[in-house]
Amino acid sequence: MTALGIPAFARDPACELGGSFPFPSWMERMMASEDDLLALLVCPLGKVPLRREGEALVCTRCETRFAIHDQIPNMLIEEAKLPEGCASLDQLPCVRCGDAKL
Ligand SMILES: [Zn+2]
Repeated sequence: MTALGIPAFARDPACELGGSFPFPSWMERMMASEDDLLALLVCPLGKVPLRREGEALVCTRCETRFAIHDQIPNMLIEEAKLPEGCASLDQLPCVRCGDAKL
């Protein structure tokens, strides 16, 4: 006499796990990689965070724009675009604060 008439081999433990698998952490990291990269990058002049604006990264303090080519940000200050009304690097807030080493 078997309980409920169901043999043990028919109760597949895999069915009980259905849908409860954790999302692999490496997959989450891949999906967030661009934000992670942005979080690591800072303005080379003032070491302050950057924000994404289209195909450029913009310093949140001195407003200098660093272009992104093929997903790779160009962090060279020589090739960065200075904000409106700023004629030279030494006028930038990030340089004037004294953190920059030009
Ligand atoms: Zn800056």
